[in-house]
Amino acid sequence: MIKKYFLLNALFVLSVTSYAEPLDPVKLLSSYVGIDTVNPPGNESRAVDFYAKIFEEEGIEFSSAESAPGRGNIWARIKGGDLPALVLLQHTDVVPATKKYWDTDPFVAEIKDGYLYGRGVIDMKGAGISQLVSFIRLHRSGLSLNRDVVFVATADEEAGGMFGAGWLIDNHPEIFEGAGFVINEGGSGQIIEGEKVFAIEITQKVPVWLRFTAVDTPGHGSSPRTTSSVSRIVHALNLVRENPFEPRIIPSVDTYFKSLSLKMTGKEAEAFANMKNFIGSKEYQAELQESSPSYHALTRDTCSLTMLEGSQKINVVPPVAAAEIDCRMLPDRTSEEFIQDIKTLVEPAGVTVSVVLAFSPAVSSVDSEFFQHIAKVTQKIHPGSRIVPAVSTGFTDSHFTRDLGIDSYGFNPVLFDSGDWTGVHGNNERVKVTSFLQGTEDLHQIVSQFVID
Ligand SMILES: [Zn+2]
Repeated sequence: MIKKYFLLNALFVLSVTSYAEPLDPVKLLSSYVGIDTVNPPGNESRAVDFYAKIFEEEGIEFSSAESAPGRGNIWARIKGGDLPALVLLQHTDVVPATKKYWDTDPFVAEIKDGYLYGRGVIDMKGAGISQLVSFIRLHRSGLSLNRDVVFVATADEEAGGMFGAGWLIDNHPEIFEGAGFVINEGGSGQIIEGEKVFAIEITQKVPVWLRFTAVDTPGHGSSPRTTSSVSRIVHALNLVRENPFEPRIIPSVDTYFKSLSLKMTGKEAEAFANMKNFIGSKEYQAELQESSPSYHALTRDTCSLTMLEGSQKINVVPPVAAAEIDCRMLPDRTSEEFIQDIKTLVEPAGVTVSVVLAFSPAVSSVDSEFFQHIAKVTQKIHPGSRIVPAVSTGFTDSHFTRDLGIDSYGFNPVLFDSGDWTGVHGNNERVKVTSFLQGTEDLHQIVSQFVID
């Protein structure tokens, strides 16, 4: 303990007496928000240039590579001892933003009433800058580390990561060499009725995106046949709609719901503490889906009907029709098995099923050294706070690193107000400046106390 305090003190002194400019996380984030990396098309090489310039000024060696023109990725490694390396993983792309629906220009960072507004301040340029600041502070400190620390900023997460993390794993496997742990986006803090609750994402629902195609005799709209490509697609989609997957509560979801129940009251608390029993009731399933589609989505595999293609003309029966559906399965079985279930269900309608995208399922352990460390440091900084191992309905790049066998945790220790979340992928994305600064400091405490010798 004494050693740790001494080192933290030393770190502080070193960072204030350093020759370099003091790091200003808000200024860095503001500049970063101004770089348009909307995906599509991405243009993440602009973010690579931004980071490369900073690394050059800091004297940090780095590498970068484009997976396609404009689709840049950048990484750097601070060498340390032999323990499994820690990877700070972030994505540089953001989702589109329509200026007319915002109170500010989404690509010009602006502070209003104590909040910093801009596309990406939460997802995830803010967390990206927090990681950068910690990485630079470690480098500036010159202290000896017990393990390597790797900074990785990737393209394309918002569209599946095939030009980013997925591509890097295939083309630059050296980045993840010796890695034991990843910290990425996916969980954060929230104040719920006065209590600080920190969610650390340990697993996520697995996307399985499928395309149905039907081919049948084309013709004139005035003389319908008994079947058509379009009627086959409609039939197949109806089969999906009318046969929802049976609910099942997997252990990680059970733990998540039980810890959420501690702050709930009445019937809600009872249900979340005993979801295995409650979810058997059709009325409760409907009630939960109505009140919280995202909690409901954790209780079963789901498919959303999202894309349809038929004729281009109202009086022409087309030879081919197609639909794409967005399915997300719980991470307790293989995607192959899931796809087979869908095929068995819809093929009698006369459609073929092809896979647009399917990831493999994986869960990171709550017993790992790093999970325990995150929990311990966070609770020390925020006494009385609660740590919740969380299951996410959406996906992040962590599934790629979990597939490599690396324990990967979604955690950005910023404490958000519940209202802030509406801005993620929506309008007026914002973060409270003081929360962002506190989160940046807390992340550095988590990282530095894990890696400093
Ligand atoms: Zn993200």
